[in-house]
Amino acid sequence: MTGIDATSMRTDLCGRLGRDDAGRTVTVCGWVDRRREHSEHLAFVDLRDHSGVLQCVVDGARDLRSEFVVRITGTVRRRPEGTANPALATGEVELQDCDVELLSRAEPPPFPLDERTEVDETLRLRHRYVDLRKSRMQHNLRARAAVNRAIRRAMDAQGFVEVETPMLIASTPEGARDFVVPSRKEPGSFYALPQSPQIFKQLTMVGGVDRYYQIARCLRDEDLRADRQFEFCQLDVEASFASRDDVLGFVTRAVAEATVEVAGHDPGTFGRMTWHDAMERFGSDKPDTRFGMELAELTPVFAGTQARVFQAPCTKGICLTGGADSLPRSRVDELVATCQSWGAKGLAWMRVVHAADSIGSALDGGVAKFLSSDEAAGVIEALDARPGDMVFLVADERRLVRHVLGLLRLELGRPPVNDGSFNYLWVLDFPLFEALSAEGDPIPSHHPFTMPHADDLPLLMAGDGPPRGEALLDVRSQAYDLVLNGWELGSGSVRIHRRDVQQRIFEVLGIAPDEARERFGFLLDAFRYGAPPHAGFAVGLDRLAALLVGEENIREVIAFPKTQSGADPLTGAPSPIADTHLRELGLRVLPPA
Ligand code: ASP
Repeated sequence: MTGIDATSMRTDLCGRLGRDDAGRTVTVCGWVDRRREHSEHLAFVDLRDHSGVLQCVVDGARDLRSEFVVRITGTVRRRPEGTANPALATGEVELQDCDVELLSRAEPPPFPLDERTEVDETLRLRHRYVDLRKSRMQHNLRARAAVNRAIRRAMDAQGFVEVETPMLIASTPEGARDFVVPSRKEPGSFYALPQSPQIFKQLTMVGGVDRYYQIARCLRDEDLRADRQFEFCQLDVEASFASRDDVLGFVTRAVAEATVEVAGHDPGTFGRMTWHDAMERFGSDKPDTRFGMELAELTPVFAGTQARVFQAPCTKGICLTGGADSLPRSRVDELVATCQSWGAKGLAWMRVVHAADSIGSALDGGVAKFLSSDEAAGVIEALDARPGDMVFLVADERRLVRHVLGLLRLELGRPPVNDGSFNYLWVLDFPLFEALSAEGDPIPSHHPFTMPHADDLPLLMAGDGPPRGEALLDVRSQAYDLVLNGWELGSGSVRIHRRDVQQRIFEVLGIAPDEARERFGFLLDAFRYGAPPHAGFAVGLDRLAALLVGEENIREVIAFPKTQSGADPLTGAPSPIADTHLRELGLRVLPPA
């Protein structure tokens, strides 16, 4: 119908016309999607705009080719008996007695615009303006806008204030490389582009803003993947006088409302799990909880084992239901090789069969002959394995066992990305440090403004100097992640608001006082003037939008993304700049090494 669809150039959108419009004279605008000859004098022209496609019966003499832009005035009529097209939303009607005005001619498109043809990525991105016309891209962009809209509404309703923070800044540590911008006014000096607004949002808390949010653009120079672009968007949140659970509540509401807006159903309660449990049960800090196949602890089963392969600090296993029948031997060999490429020495496998008494289960094949009967019974019980299943075991250092079995679990059981379910999960109590470097320095799991867990704080603050060594890896933080269907959607933490704690963390991280002063002096200064306790979070909106529309690559929900190698085939970025420009910036480019 008319109304918000009407402009001075058209009365209706193509995709909105239906049987109730029969008899109306309408004007529609759009691109020629397809043209088929009907008779010597008449052609069917499918006209496309963002809302859909409308069949128009046009005087065949007209020279109308694919992607020509036209304006058509005609009368809507029901299609003749037996010619309706149920596959098309407007399939019951067509436009007749058409008067066509050519608005713009078009060269043949660089690739077909149907959804079936597989088009080379670089070609798609070079002509992104054509690619965006596809219904899939139109749907995705609109879904993305709906995510932003729902999020703004939810944050607003919860008393958050949208504050914009600068793009030309000093470095913010998020663990990636900075993109830098040379200063013309101060040759030899550089701005960093924000890896996140982290420090600024904390400063808004010192500034009394109380509840901050921003749909913020972040830039990180790191290798690109399906779920990673140089530039991405996040819902960035910070709140004063708020606990961890307050923050989880704020974010849950925003994300749930976005889910309802786009996917049309309420995702229900968001699960909660500690980092420790996630690692032990799923071998991952971003478990895909859409399916089970959990890692079972088998270390006690093999405590006194004679079997050399299981004489290791840790043994765990997973069970593939029906795997004994469904996995051919060649696939099993492939899985063994894959696990080795992930760092395992090997992958032990066994089939579950009926026991000789045909009442219980027994293990057969693979390493089964090396197991005592007690061990076999222990494995079967811990994995709740039934005849016809296949079990896989890894024995090694605990970290490695979890890592390899976590990946194998995904390989064997992960449902497709667009299965229509949305399993949100909060992963809580991350460790403060994820590992020790070769020099023994701890590597932070999150940025260095993360508050240690209250119970572990005394350990860090005790004594004159910071603790060192393996003991540090047991220190928990007040950091938490949000996970959706196995994708990390975002992270956040309760922040350090005490100068002494912040300084101690810098010390532990090996950031010397001078360096801390140089890099974050302004934050430490701000904390001298009254910092409220505060906590926050950031949700990756590209990832959220991609999952909500069932896309595997965030490029599909970004209007103008980069290729895997970080190039923009549309504009040619990155590209060299003129010598005069370089001189102005005080820069000289070295020949490639
Ligand atoms: N700044 C963090 C990030 O961008 C999120 C946060 O801690 O709020 O990942």
